[in-house]
Amino acid sequence: MLLRSRLFPVRRLIIVLLAVTACQATPSGSSRSNLPVTGVETQPQITRHGFTPASLDTMSPPPAPSALCTNRPVTETVRFSDWLEQFGQQAVETGLSPTTTQQALRGVRFNPRVVDLDSRQPEFTRPIWEYLASAVSASRIQRGRQLLTEYRSLLNRIEQRYGVQPAYLLAIWAIESDFGRSYGNFRVLDSLASLAYQGRRAQFGCEQLLAALQILDREPLSPDQLIGSWAGAMGHMQFIPTAFLSYAVDFDGDGRRDLWDSVPDVLASAANYLAAHGWHAGVTWGLEVTVQAPGAFDWGLSDPTVRKPLGEWQSLGIRRVGGQSLPSEPLPAGLLLPAGYRGPAFLTLENFEVIKRYNTSTSYALAVGHLADRINGGSAIVGRWPTELAALSLSDRVELQLLLRQRGYDPGAVDGLIGPRTQRAIRAFQRATQQPADGYPSMEVLNQLRRL
Ligand code: CA
Repeated sequence: MLLRSRLFPVRRLIIVLLAVTACQATPSGSSRSNLPVTGVETQPQITRHGFTPASLDTMSPPPAPSALCTNRPVTETVRFSDWLEQFGQQAVETGLSPTTTQQALRGVRFNPRVVDLDSRQPEFTRPIWEYLASAVSASRIQRGRQLLTEYRSLLNRIEQRYGVQPAYLLAIWAIESDFGRSYGNFRVLDSLASLAYQGRRAQFGCEQLLAALQILDREPLSPDQLIGSWAGAMGHMQFIPTAFLSYAVDFDGDGRRDLWDSVPDVLASAANYLAAHGWHAGVTWGLEVTVQAPGAFDWGLSDPTVRKPLGEWQSLGIRRVGGQSLPSEPLPAGLLLPAGYRGPAFLTLENFEVIKRYNTSTSYALAVGHLADRINGGSAIVGRWPTELAALSLSDRVELQLLLRQRGYDPGAVDGLIGPRTQRAIRAFQRATQQPADGYPSMEVLNQLRRL
């Protein structure tokens, strides 16, 4: 598909260069559901490639943070039914129709399973190679290719309108809901009310519940039609209610935005979301690379704040896998080492960051980009994953952060989550001890910190 794009001829050279990847390997795996978009949204941008998203369908701005949600009463001593009634009264005060609010909240039940799922923090998280094996499975690639043919005409119309290449929409559709076959069976109003009442993410639940009521106020939808994940992400593309309000579109023109039963609405809504967050039409997400002289390379350049034009990466000894030169266009790119310097390496372009606006996880964005490539006929990842490295448990990760802090580094919150700040602290420690500064939280790093 990338190769055939005639919409944006200026991009054709890079498209051709980036779409041709040489290698063979076998895919593997099956599926996973993702947490919803976490709600930070920006205004539509004009891309620097001249694609003006004049066609963006932004139905309404996201609702302003409501005092109703920021000044929530302490709920421990309030019964759920009383809390819900009070919430309903306050929702009406924000301008919602009393009838809609009453009808929507009448059937809402507290769901303890939602709060239980929200409080879980698994001791072990899957390494990225296991996640990718299931997210980019052989069956998904095959199904994606079938659907690319089946929906060719629809996908072309969506690309003309929003500038998003079909394979990305199919990849997101696959990963979010297995192409609509598995998007959760929770009543979203129940999920959000439960989170708002008692969850770790009470403010999120409250704001999204309010947005869900706004959807019911504006759309010909019944409360029972709002079905999705335990965390309130709805339908095939797992839109949380604020995302639905701002980015869902009625592409089949039947007068309602339907992310449960209308494939045109589903695919166009995801395209509208990506376009609104700055998607560069016709450009790829990134490409797999190798480092020519790994011994002399500064692995600290994998810090996500470092972005350089492709030409600079070329002069630093980065090549496409297979050894070919990088594309010559001056696109800014970052070096991604998802499993540290021992594993595969990627240069990620700006669209990679746009995918992360859908879900902030780097693994997620890599899975979407790679699955899109595979649907388009691209090859499997060439680099070898360091599967021999032991995964750090939650308690190991907490200990790693504590030890970094004790040794004078700043890993941010000691919560067992390895974010950019913890990785930066690991890099600083690795530099100080003359090791490859890839920022990867390995057992080796933990053991060295223990010995200090
Ligand atoms: Ca529709």
